Amino acid sequence: MIRTRFAPSPTGYLHIGGARTALFSWAYARRHGGKFILRIEDTDLERSTAQSTQAILDGMAWLGLDYDEGPFYQMQRLSRYQEVAEQLLRSGNAYHCYASKEELDAMREQQRAAGLKPRYDGRWRDSKQAPPDGVKPVVRLKNPLDGAVTFRDLVKGEITVANSELDDLVLLRADGVPTYNFGVMIDDLDMNITHVIRGDDHVNNTPRQINILKALGAPLPQYAHVPMILGSDGERLSKRHGAVSVVQYRDDGYLPEALVNYLARLGWSHGDEEIFSREQLVEWFDLASINCSPAKFNPEKLQWLNQQYLKTADDARLAKLVMPFLETDGCNVDVGPDLPKVTNLLKERVSTVAELADAAVYFYRFLEPAEELKTQHFTVEAKPALVDLMERLAIIEWDSHAIQDTIKAAATAHGMKMPKVAMPLRVMVTGEAQTPSINAVLELLGREETLKRMHERLG
Ligand code: GLU
Repeated sequence: MIRTRFAPSPTGYLHIGGARTALFSWAYARRHGGKFILRIEDTDLERSTAQSTQAILDGMAWLGLDYDEGPFYQMQRLSRYQEVAEQLLRSGNAYHCYASKEELDAMREQQRAAGLKPRYDGRWRDSKQAPPDGVKPVVRLKNPLDGAVTFRDLVKGEITVANSELDDLVLLRADGVPTYNFGVMIDDLDMNITHVIRGDDHVNNTPRQINILKALGAPLPQYAHVPMILGSDGERLSKRHGAVSVVQYRDDGYLPEALVNYLARLGWSHGDEEIFSREQLVEWFDLASINCSPAKFNPEKLQWLNQQYLKTADDARLAKLVMPFLETDGCNVDVGPDLPKVTNLLKERVSTVAELADAAVYFYRFLEPAEELKTQHFTVEAKPALVDLMERLAIIEWDSHAIQDTIKAAATAHGMKMPKVAMPLRVMVTGEAQTPSINAVLELLGREETLKRMHERLG
């Protein structure tokens, strides 16, 4: 059975890159009826926080990346890492190293001065030296001195690294906490991970992890290293490029299905398909179609996709999503038109839920038009027609068609073209110059509120 995992370090929110990796791992497991496992790599005690873990869980839940096992926490598995380290010590594949930080700093300094790449020189590897008193050792891997590690990456193809490039990496720190490479590898092994799908910033770690697995005589998983995501300027995606936290997109009014669709297309493609559902992604996803070169993050494209999803989104759902935005804007949605009807009228015109809220405010709150709109539209010539219109609107059947006919009739009666009446009416009632057709807006707003607003302006 295919088993994949997402293994974030809880040192920040779930960012776009992490979410994309999680999505690929998730999609691959779902595609093959396998299992998707969540593991929180919280061994960096200084930088890991409970808030970050929560932010990651929230981000995954919002994107609908459900996991079958976990979350597992590495800090709850310390005894297991110690056990494996003991095993490697016993089999002669690992050793204690008592070198102090100062000593190692000095060693690296000397190597640099001699024009060499700093690396651990193996001073405790076969040492017969007696351990210094009171020093807690780290456990290091006895990395093979010659030969090479070769693996076939499912995205990048065959990768070979000479063992002479790898030093005896620390497996367990003096405090018993595993290093990243050791923890990851034991967990992937214990959790029976068949496919390690992760960012290619880890590709250099893979040969090290493979050497540990080999020392244990354990089977190797398959690896797929996914190229990183760049900003539009070609630099690695970071805060500078705008919102990079997944949850921020939720708060900015994006729909999770739009972000999932967008993330899926970041470095993976299925022909020319641009818009596809989660189900289609699961049906189509394969590792072979992951692009070898980095993907560029394009916020406009994401916004466009969001717009496509908004157009067809269910109105009851949109109403729920838009409500908090409107409340923040000081609107009481209990007084005023039915919110799903409002979202239905507006959703084709906006690209985020936040924009939807902005466009809906005038249904719940009387907005004062900008000065230049007043000057432009509240003219002396328009006033008599508008006063007449107000009287006519008071007595008609209240529906969009009748409203439209009435605006036309009032304009004709005063020898004016319809827009000359409709525009001031729109600005007067909504405070804005751009809205859907004014008859549709008025129908929703209701007669009472419409007349109240007109009256306030026209006296
Ligand atoms: N914890 C690592 C990170 O957040 C990921 C490890 C892995 O996927 O192997 O970068």
